[in-house]
Amino acid sequence: MHELGIVTHVAKTLDELAEEEHITKIGSVTLQVGEVSGIITDYFVDCWNYFRRRHPVLCEAELRIETSPAVTFCEDCKDTYETVKYGRICPYCKSENTYLVQGNECLIKEIEAETEEES
Ligand SMILES: [Zn+2]
Repeated sequence: MHELGIVTHVAKTLDELAEEEHITKIGSVTLQVGEVSGIITDYFVDCWNYFRRRHPVLCEAELRIETSPAVTFCEDCKDTYETVKYGRICPYCKSENTYLVQGNECLIKEIEAETEEES
């Protein structure tokens, strides 16, 4: 239930934001989801559709998901490479002394919102 947890978190964040910014309706939400975050997009959208009916501010919000590539950094040769292709072992020097730079994130990148003043 990884996706449901994230959707809960995103919905809560947007609810709080809406309250602070006097947003009456959110038109769309763009999430940046890392390639190796383990999020299954279809299931994520199902969770979203379930959730937005419970949040008046989100009920018409369209969910957009952008996938960001996973990148790993090698400590030994100070270079980066594609995580999905090579995994934890550096393709240049075969070192395992590597760490994920990006690709595990789930961020709210952008929202389109209507505020009370505008409507
Ligand atoms: Zn290396």
